[in-house]
Amino acid sequence: MVEGSATGDGTVAAAAAFANLAALHAKVDAKFADIAARHPDQVNCRRGCHSCCLPNLTVVGVEAARIRQYFVDHPDALAAARTNARDKPHGATRCAMLDVDGGCVIYPVRPTLCRAHGAPALVSKPSGPQLDVCPLNFTNIKLETLPDDRIGVDHLNTLLFLTGELWQPGTSRKRVRLTLRGLGISMRG
Ligand code: SF4
Repeated sequence: MVEGSATGDGTVAAAAAFANLAALHAKVDAKFADIAARHPDQVNCRRGCHSCCLPNLTVVGVEAARIRQYFVDHPDALAAARTNARDKPHGATRCAMLDVDGGCVIYPVRPTLCRAHGAPALVSKPSGPQLDVCPLNFTNIKLETLPDDRIGVDHLNTLLFLTGELWQPGTSRKRVRLTLRGLGISMRG
């Protein structure tokens, strides 16, 4: 966690919050890369495959703020998102950030959970912990035999929650829809 930019009330400034979020993302990316490197024949994720890019995705406040900043810094990405909003290349079947070629227009700042997609995920269910994975990956190996090759979604959500709360308390509880409208950005340039 970045501590040097603490504010008087114990929260951290936006730049520090974004750095903390980027650090969390780097850890998820590294874990995913590690799993993929150990199982190159089991991971079929590639640009253009968007099976996991489902609609109605929501993000926490700090993720939304970082994505808004990304659009400010990358007008080309904002233009691509506006094109998506206008043309709806995948109708209502896919995420609003997915372009006509199956690429994510906010890929460098995509949400935390998007980074875990494709890896075996351990999720808490009312019936107990459950292992899940994209049906295109790990098709001929039992996930239970890979105790080190999984991402704990609950753990990840806790870290994400805390990262957001350190920035602005309360903003991790209010989910934001991952659309231009949800982010409060005009659909017209
Ligand atoms: S934000 Fe990007 S990676 Fe995540 S679901 Fe949407 S298009 Fe896919």
